[in-house]
Amino acid sequence: MPFIATNDVGTTRRRKLTPRQRLKVWETTGGVCVLCGRTIDAVRERWVVEHLRALELGGQDDFGNMGPAHDTCARDKTRDDHRRAAHAKRQKIQHLGAEAPKRQLPCGRNSPWKRTISGWIVAREVPRRAQEDRSG
Ligand SMILES: [Zn+2]
Repeated sequence: MPFIATNDVGTTRRRKLTPRQRLKVWETTGGVCVLCGRTIDAVRERWVVEHLRALELGGQDDFGNMGPAHDTCARDKTRDDHRRAAHAKRQKIQHLGAEAPKRQLPCGRNSPWKRTISGWIVAREVPRRAQEDRSG
């Protein structure tokens, strides 16, 4: 099987836009919502700068990835993006084995028992200082 280099999809940093930059985003579509395709009445409707590909899903924070959108349309998209990002994170955690083990190892360091080199399982000797902490 050939080695396939995967590019890691992480969260891109979000910059704050100046009013002039918001105007530039508005003019890329001429005031048409990038999500529903209807014209935004900027006087009566709230609008936001939407990232077409969400930052948390690897989208870039540049003008090619931005467009104006109705506030209500953007909220629906954001909810869906969060759902997809959470799913991607769960998949990555599972794939990398990054989840903490759910049960401790038998005869592990925190167990009251230990396995000797000869194979016997014996009670772990508690260091004297730890015994004093427990009693006192
Ligand atoms: Zn819309």
